[in-house]
Amino acid sequence: MPIVRMEGHDYSFPVSDVLRLFYGACWPVGSHEIRASYDPNIVIHSCLTDGIVSTWMDGQDALRCEPDKDANISPKREVKRQLYRVLSLYLNFNFPWGSLTGIRPTLVAREAASREELVDRYFLRHDKAQLAFDTARAEDSILARIPENEPSVYVGVPFCRSRCSYCSFVSEDAYAKTHLLPEYVDAVLAEIRSCSDVIPRNVSSLYVGGGTPTVLDDRLFLYFLENVFRELHADQIPEITVEAGRADTINAVKLRAMKDLGVHRICINPQTLSNKTLRTLGRNHTVEEFYQAHDLAEQIGFTTINMDIIAGLPDEVEEEFIHSLEGITALSPENITLHTLSRKRRAAMSDQIDTSLSESANQTVDDMLTFGHQFLQKNGYESYYLYRQKDTVGGQENTGYSKPGHACLYNVAMMSDQRPVFGFGAGSVSKNYDTHKGLTRSPNVREAIEYIRRVQEMAVRKNQLFRV
Ligand code: SF4
Repeated sequence: MPIVRMEGHDYSFPVSDVLRLFYGACWPVGSHEIRASYDPNIVIHSCLTDGIVSTWMDGQDALRCEPDKDANISPKREVKRQLYRVLSLYLNFNFPWGSLTGIRPTLVAREAASREELVDRYFLRHDKAQLAFDTARAEDSILARIPENEPSVYVGVPFCRSRCSYCSFVSEDAYAKTHLLPEYVDAVLAEIRSCSDVIPRNVSSLYVGGGTPTVLDDRLFLYFLENVFRELHADQIPEITVEAGRADTINAVKLRAMKDLGVHRICINPQTLSNKTLRTLGRNHTVEEFYQAHDLAEQIGFTTINMDIIAGLPDEVEEEFIHSLEGITALSPENITLHTLSRKRRAAMSDQIDTSLSESANQTVDDMLTFGHQFLQKNGYESYYLYRQKDTVGGQENTGYSKPGHACLYNVAMMSDQRPVFGFGAGSVSKNYDTHKGLTRSPNVREAIEYIRRVQEMAVRKNQLFRV
């Protein structure tokens, strides 16, 4: 079995990240050894001496990696970079994102002087290096428009009409929990009110997400939105998004309410334009209902609409993905977010996804994304934010695309970890950013019923986090 011996350091997380990338599962043995379950038996030494990292494989003189002397790379990142290099040479295999296993490749891309540097130093494939390099620059220019002390606010409604089988978010079945919804809404309002002293008047963006907030019935939805917006002085917030994700929760009453209350941006997410796949996913709406929801939103006057699509959905071939992407692009939404299927443990589907681990499934997703990136660029969209999840098929990415002038400030501020974020509701996370102290987080509890019970505790934590 492959064994990595750590000598002079205990960077077990980066070592495990790389081993998982190549071999799937791995586990620590003692404090200085990590093993993976695979043939054949190989031993790799990952060594840190006097600040210098070197990595080599026993019995393989050619598989020795020394530091890149021109680079100012931290030992932790260098451990990962060298281990990736040794294994990729040994196995004669490269991943599209090279040694970047983290969730924010644009953080590394921001430090790079050129796309070539990402290719040569971190072994990214050329197209991924270009994507990371361009997106990092786009993120920077959007972030520069958000003053450092202006927070974003997230308000979460973690309920949906049914649970999509791939879902890894905190989301509960709104039908089974109907009795909880009014109580939940009042708890969120109470949490916001209890934090009113620490929420600055200048908020850069507000995002009402979930779950699917539009799952609330018409009356409760209006009550919720009116009160949240009043508490947050939303008439002064330059960007307000409401996640209206599922077509089965959208109607004219809710769309008009959002429009009248000043919502700028909504998300209507088809994920696919295949009724067969929608049924498999348990999304409880049809392609036709998605089109109706979109047309209604346009008639009511929404000018910034985001649509999510997922590459790698179960049993979908490349032609189906292309059909979906072409179909939603023909509607000309201002934002399209191109996701890769994630196999998170919370997802119901994670038991049935062996096929998506295969090399051919990885290649299919790679082809879908390559097509998607090129197609969207040709159609006038620019990538403006980018992140990866740990368990996406093939280690691929999620990318937000926008028509010029329609990038979502909230997405960039939240991803950047360089702006404060107030999170209200179950499963939300608040972050306070300080140029001197860095980033501090305060997560709320995930389950709605627990959140209702402990809402004052959540508010106290947030007051402590943001009190200066
Ligand atoms: S709509 Fe989104 S949050 Fe709700 S179950 Fe589906 S994937 Fe999860």
